[in-house]
Order: sequence, then C-alpha cells, then structure tokens
Amino acid sequence: MILLLESRHVDLLKEEARKTHPIEACAMLFGESTQKQVVVQKVIVVPNKLQSATRFEIHPETVVKAITEAEQEGLGFLGLFHSHPAPATPSLIDHKFMKLWGDVVWVIYSSTNGALAAYQMKNGEVREVSIQIVPA
Ligand SMILES: [Zn+2]
Repeated sequence: MILLLESRHVDLLKEEARKTHPIEACAMLFGESTQKQVVVQKVIVVPNKLQSATRFEIHPETVVKAITEAEQEGLGFLGLFHSHPAPATPSLIDHKFMKLWGDVVWVIYSSTNGALAAYQMKNGEVREVSIQIVPA
C-alpha cells in the first residue's frame, strides 16, 4: 500500500506543525483509495482540542462537519495527520486510538527532526505505509 500526498499538502502540514510546536498539530485527510493506494486530495487542518504535546483529540463536531463536507465533494475520509515533538512513530496512546478509528491511515510528522511517516492498523497490527510525495 502506498500513500500519495501532494507536495502542497505536505508543505501545509509541516507549516501547521511548525506553528503549533511543541503542541501536536492535527489534520484530516480526504480523497480516494483503492486496494493498492490511498490518494489524498484534500487536507483539513483541525484544532487539537487537548493542546497537548503528547496527545491529540479532535472535537467530534469538527470530525462530522469535515467528513460531511468532503462526502458532498465526493471524497472519502482516508486518515488522520498529527505531529509529534518527538520521533514520527505511533505512541502507545496512538495505538489505542488507531484501533478505534479502524483501517484509516495515520500520518505522523516529527516537528523535531522533520521525519514524515504513515501507518495503518491491520488485524490489530500497526504497519508502516510508504509515502510518495507527488508534485502539485
Ligand atoms: Zn501521536
């Protein structure tokens, strides 16, 4: 599985993470997915309700609003982005929430070392997803 991200979206996410550092930044990712690839076409930056450097939470109303708008545009909900003021690997809390969110992709950006990585939980196991950045 490959995650395709447009460079303008990567820039937007990195910029958001720089602005909120060390607080975790969050965004929701929308677009189209097939068995082989997940193509992000829309990124919505959303506030971290917890304003925390170790965890994030998106207000449920914000989630519903963003998903409803994207669906009206014909786009599906693909995954979540958040930043870490630490390495770009899922924390134990992330593992817990990955279970709750199902098989969506989790993109994590390290606001300390600039690494960008993606993960997906499949059958209770967290796997890394390759990211391909495409020009936009
Ligand atoms: Zn995290």
